Amino acid sequence: MDLMLCRPEAWGTHLVHFTGSKEHNVALRERALDRGLSLSEKGFRDVDSGELLLAADEEEVYARLELPWIAPELREGEGEISAAAAGRLPRLVERTDVRGDTHTHSDWTDGVDTIETMARAARERGLEYMVLTDHSPSLGVTRGLTPDRIAEQKLELDRLNGELAPFRILHGTELEIRSDGSLDYPDDLLAAFDVVVASIHTGRSQPTEQLTRRALAAIENPNVDIIAHPTGRIVNRRDPVSYDWPQVFEAAARTGTRLEINGSPRLDLDERLARDAARAGVQLTLASDAHRTEELVYLDYAVGVARRAWLEPEQIANVVGTEEWTR
Ligand SMILES: [Zn+2]
Ligand SMILES: [Zn+2]
Repeated sequence: MDLMLCRPEAWGTHLVHFTGSKEHNVALRERALDRGLSLSEKGFRDVDSGELLLAADEEEVYARLELPWIAPELREGEGEISAAAAGRLPRLVERTDVRGDTHTHSDWTDGVDTIETMARAARERGLEYMVLTDHSPSLGVTRGLTPDRIAEQKLELDRLNGELAPFRILHGTELEIRSDGSLDYPDDLLAAFDVVVASIHTGRSQPTEQLTRRALAAIENPNVDIIAHPTGRIVNRRDPVSYDWPQVFEAAARTGTRLEINGSPRLDLDERLARDAARAGVQLTLASDAHRTEELVYLDYAVGVARRAWLEPEQIANVVGTEEWTR
């Protein structure tokens, strides 16, 4: 660990310099040189006169370069400086834009806490709603819900929604896309849910073509609203699978099926795929996939990925209220 000390008057250039990225800093230094200035953590130096020009905060650093302040999540040398110079920086989504969590579990399947405990915790975090998405049966380990249990769960949600209003629990499912591409519940059962989140957990070693066919089968089903953690990666544990992404994005954009940014240790989609998806006209959802109340905070990490993906609120499906999901 390095401990840096600097005078308050030079805080801005120190902060920008040491938070990077390298690519961003190199581009800033080039832009400074174009203006007859050399830029280091110590400040700007006029190349001709040698005069040192200090910047006490980040805004001053960017203003000296004739740029608006650039959010740290965008500082990757991926076009943010030209976008800033042209006044085309995105209005990045913020946590407070997100009104509901679209992927949560309870002790009815593989979660730890009761539905009520989860809902109260989500409400305390300032959300207006959460979609409860307990598992369908074929993912054997999780005691997926049978049709009878789904009907019972619906009654429990009706009771809780009466108590917790205006907070609302939407009835969803995490629907298994089976290895052969079929879905784990029939259409009439799916139609009764408020929100259907479909996902692939098995058959992950299939070739790209076959995985793509499975994803497309779910996307094309009019009852499916969201594809959860599309690549299935778990950071440091499970590699992502790959699809024919242009085909998947085209189908998702055309059918209005959202792709999820899962904020659990999956961070899936990652920021590059999320940015590509949004550019292809796909709406994204931000979700915690929480299995206990402590994991509801993962929604914040999904927001972080969305910001790194340059996403604006209009590109996120859960900036809208419950009425949009229950039409
Ligand atoms: Zn899952
Ligand atoms: Zn899940």
